[in-house]
Amino acid sequence: MESVPVKRARAAPVRVYSKDKPHLSLKEAIAGAVCPLDIRQRLEIVNVEYWGFDARAHKGQLVIHRDLASDVRSIFAELLQKRFPIQSIEPIVVYRWSDDESMQENNTSGFNYRNVLGTERLSNHATGCAIDVNPKINPYFRNGASMPPNATYDVGRKGAITPVIAQVFERHGWRWGGRWREKDWQHFDKTVQGERKEGEHASLP
Ligand SMILES: [Zn+2]
Repeated sequence: MESVPVKRARAAPVRVYSKDKPHLSLKEAIAGAVCPLDIRQRLEIVNVEYWGFDARAHKGQLVIHRDLASDVRSIFAELLQKRFPIQSIEPIVVYRWSDDESMQENNTSGFNYRNVLGTERLSNHATGCAIDVNPKINPYFRNGASMPPNATYDVGRKGAITPVIAQVFERHGWRWGGRWREKDWQHFDKTVQGERKEGEHASLP
């Protein structure tokens, strides 16, 4: 029972589901990544809030290039405001660095020291300059095959990235793989000055 008038906030705040709290330090979130030291030193862990598939706000974490951290905070705040449903946002270390496992769980993630799937080219994820969003619902298509396997893209599905959602990233200067000839619906990236670009191989320590 509430009889005392309460001050109204300008915008209705989203209540975060308190069960899940960010729990990894950067050190923990990159533990076990086989990756050059200079890349590690430019990574940051960003705590974000997101609108879950259960229609509640949750907390998640993204490992990302430090120069993109403020973009990521703004972008995910806007996605939350739009109530864009995201299933899960956990660093790939939780999936023992398996992109396959992360995709199967429809997990959204940033940094992963790996090649572009199905190629020998270093991915923009390897420098923390890319994010995959709801990957099971927004698959990557290469040579007609989807990754994860047997996935389809249907713009009407919960968590599917629409052009309106992509524009939230694009307004901050990020690219969307959904605009490419070979569709990578889940993928967003942004070039950071002086950082290795996709295709340039780094030497491992
Ligand atoms: Zn990607």
